[in-house]
Amino acid sequence: MTPYFLIDADKIEQNLKVLHGVMERTGCSILLAQKCFSCYALYPLIGRYLSGATASGLYEARLCHEEMPGKQNHVFAPAFRVEDFTELIQICDHIVFNSPRQLHLYGRRAKDAGLQVGLRINPECSTQEGHAIYDPCAPGSRLGTTIKAFDSMPHEDFDLLDGLHFHTLCEQNSDDLETTLDAVEEHFGKYLPRMKWINFGGGHHITRVDYDIPRLERCICRMQQRYGLHVYLEPGEAVALNAGELHASVMEVQPAGEDGMSNVILDTSAACHMPDVIEMPYTPPLLVPEQMDEVPGASGYKYRFGGPTCLSGDVIGSYTLKSPLHEGDEVVFGDMAIYSMVKTNTFNGMPLPDIYIRNKSEAVLWKHFDYATFKNRV
Ligand SMILES: *Cc1c(COP(=O)(O)O)cnc(C)c1O
Repeated sequence: MTPYFLIDADKIEQNLKVLHGVMERTGCSILLAQKCFSCYALYPLIGRYLSGATASGLYEARLCHEEMPGKQNHVFAPAFRVEDFTELIQICDHIVFNSPRQLHLYGRRAKDAGLQVGLRINPECSTQEGHAIYDPCAPGSRLGTTIKAFDSMPHEDFDLLDGLHFHTLCEQNSDDLETTLDAVEEHFGKYLPRMKWINFGGGHHITRVDYDIPRLERCICRMQQRYGLHVYLEPGEAVALNAGELHASVMEVQPAGEDGMSNVILDTSAACHMPDVIEMPYTPPLLVPEQMDEVPGASGYKYRFGGPTCLSGDVIGSYTLKSPLHEGDEVVFGDMAIYSMVKTNTFNGMPLPDIYIRNKSEAVLWKHFDYATFKNRV
């Protein structure tokens, strides 16, 4: 029954093969950023190709520890809770602090427990336009340590560091990584020879068709050769890009308005099931039904898809279709594995979509959600 997510394990494996190729050719390590995709049914598959996973805090770190046992378990958070720390250092092997203060508070304990200790830096080099909420280099950012703060760190804290971490990209190509590395070297170059590793963060759209992989590999080799560093990458999107669908049904097609556009009420919601559509914002690709080609003046059936919630802005997007839509028709949105299931909510008492996993051509129900899920969350 709609709505449901359908995750394609074969497509994930194709992505993993691309990422594994980068690891093999360069000797770098690639980790899954769990905050993008925590579908742990596929962690055994992911663990066969990648070095491990990275977590945003205790819960994701536990998930990696339980579901990808024996693989590397990294954690970064803007600040760590005292209550979580004892468990974190038992289950993680790498910990990255956000500030000299956090390093000072926790670094020694992490080090004594045998973890690799890193600090997130802010290279103060914005390479993205339009997505200010995804730019950790924007003025006033709380994420990462600027060179000014880094320079004034006490020696004994600096000596705890095994590596540096930066994360500044979002759905970007390797030319922006190259620009960022220039800034990292310009500001932090003097410290790099004293480190063991550098983590390039996520946001590398490595599995997108137009991504320049050779340039990425040159970036990796540059840090390996100049500074003798081991390089980590921790993409989220690239692991599960184009590997999932969201299936929904048409509940009502309203009469066309003055703009020739009909509102369509679906049984899925942008606000509840794909909040990034509103947050980012973007219009998700529609796989079914078939769309008109974007030729100027082309006629077709114009629809604005929206959810059944009370939020006026719960709009998924506008689409021009080849044939008319009817109540009960199925619609399928593409690229719904990333930042989707990890972000769903039950606002308005909306049911959560079930999750199916497709292996070869067989789809199997993995998670079913019902009224009890809603009641437990409110
Ligand atoms: C979000 C995030 C990632 C993953 O980013 P993607 O855009 O999904 O590749 C990796 N590292 C950190 C620190 C992040 O915040």
